[in-house]
Amino acid sequence: KTLVHGDQRRLFNTSNSRMTIMPAWVIDRYGSNDVLRFTKNAGFPIINYPNEVVVQVHAAGLNPIDVSMRGGYGAATMAMKRDPLNINQSGSEFPLILGRDMSGVIMECGLDVASAYFKEGDEVWAAIPPWKQGSLAEFVVLSANEVSKKPKCLSHIEAAAVPYVAATAWSALVNTGGLNKDNCAKKRILILGGSGGVGTFSIQMLKAWGAHVTVTCSQNAERLVRGLGVDHVVDYTSTLIGVWENDSPCNKMNSLSVSLHLSLPLFLHPRFDLVLDNVGGDTESWALGLLKPWCGAKYVTLVTPFLCNTDRLGIADGMLQTGVTVASKALKHLSKGVHYRWGMFAPNGLALDDISEMVDAGKIRAVVEEEFTFSQVPQAMLKVEKGHARGKTVVKIS
Ligand code: NDP
Repeated sequence: KTLVHGDQRRLFNTSNSRMTIMPAWVIDRYGSNDVLRFTKNAGFPIINYPNEVVVQVHAAGLNPIDVSMRGGYGAATMAMKRDPLNINQSGSEFPLILGRDMSGVIMECGLDVASAYFKEGDEVWAAIPPWKQGSLAEFVVLSANEVSKKPKCLSHIEAAAVPYVAATAWSALVNTGGLNKDNCAKKRILILGGSGGVGTFSIQMLKAWGAHVTVTCSQNAERLVRGLGVDHVVDYTSTLIGVWENDSPCNKMNSLSVSLHLSLPLFLHPRFDLVLDNVGGDTESWALGLLKPWCGAKYVTLVTPFLCNTDRLGIADGMLQTGVTVASKALKHLSKGVHYRWGMFAPNGLALDDISEMVDAGKIRAVVEEEFTFSQVPQAMLKVEKGHARGKTVVKIS
């Protein structure tokens, strides 16, 4: 039974046979950048379920998780998601295609994909779940509920800079943090790590919803984050840390609440309703103290040991260890009057619909730091691996 409707001729090549291969960057084993291999013979993605769509990728955005996955991060959990019954042999994920962000055009729709939502030729964007084949390829197959109509005002390159960080920020701030467009107006939010992909997106969404936003970043990122509308900037690289009012830059020096890094919690006032931690490490040891106690304030960290635990201990023990860690931390901090939570990326086409509207309304813009060609994928991966992102790295595919 065919799962496809519409004009199938789109997927036929000139010799009138169905396309079975496509160009892609793949890895055949985990490792450093030299495992990346370009091939013209990657398997063409096929529709396995009637709610899926095949998309021709025009641009792919890269994220730190692509570099981590190249090295095998999350392999145990992803294997379980791909093959829950553990039928396949180990290594069956190869050749693996990286790339979590995608902007492109729908080429083919499964039978259950309502034409009211998607049809061939629609320009779409999506954040691709890490257990699926990624966007560093000419085509990708996705579930229709992971896909959303791309904002009209963005090019494919710009659109590919948004979905993964947007879906992550939405999951952390909305689903876990309980924020939404109607309850942000009087909230004070601190974003630790404001200059990267998640930070630059989160700033804009929270400002569009009327929150008061403070971020930490390096001094050379201050201009970028101010341009996105933040109210306060904290230069975390300074041994003397200052908090500067957005509207009075010339007062920087004399309005400084100056303190050594470790005493940051003591001088940053007033306290916050939510902290989004994009940095991890020792931030938890001091940043939880910046929350308003006994007011329902939340600390949401995106840097969690979940996938490392399952890689190290296996699925069952890793999940158990993860549950124990998060529960004990949550209880410990609850006794001090604040909520401690882990934020996780979750694919979410509906959230992307809302975000698309915000982009087209001019409330959120794509922050593309650097663009690479399809032949420069290794260089693009190295750029992401070096860190110090100022927005997103994007690859033009076609
Ligand atoms: P990026 O690499 O795009 O950005 C990280 C930013 O943080 C850079 O701009 C970096 O710039 C800055 N930074 C580094 N150290 C500090 C510090 N101590 N204080 C303040 N800023 C700092 O990463 P993303 O925004 O894409 O992701 C952020 C984190 O969230 C990553 O650790 C990522 O792995 C994680 N993540 C987790 C997800 C999940 O499902 N749990 C999903 C998505 C992301 P500079 O070094 O120059 O200061």
